[in-house]
Amino acid sequence: MPTVIYGRYHASDQRLQNMLQHIAETIGRDVRVTSADRINIVKGSSVNSLHLINEAVDFHVIGLSDAEAFRALRENRVAIFGPEVGDDYRWQLIQHGPYTSTGGPHLHLGYSPKGKPPRVN
Ligand SMILES: [Zn+2]
Repeated sequence: MPTVIYGRYHASDQRLQNMLQHIAETIGRDVRVTSADRINIVKGSSVNSLHLINEAVDFHVIGLSDAEAFRALRENRVAIFGPEVGDDYRWQLIQHGPYTSTGGPHLHLGYSPKGKPPRVN
């Protein structure tokens, strides 16, 4: 079964862990995490980053380019994330390209907790 490889990174939010596993299984490929919980603001990142409240992970899908993986995720977004309706839709999925200021190209998955102001990647 496709799995999520965390390496040295820690994602403390069970909801994010479950979603990454769900993504791996839906796409049928392993997912490699390249950043998760952050204690410090990294260069180029925002003070409002979801990473700082342990609500974001950066990743690649092994065997796919970020563009291919992003396309696959968008095409399967209802199966993966559910319908994008109302206040319950709290997920953000972003493809960061080669000019991103935080650690090179990657996909970013974040979850904006209810009752808190929206945050950025
Ligand atoms: Zn990120």
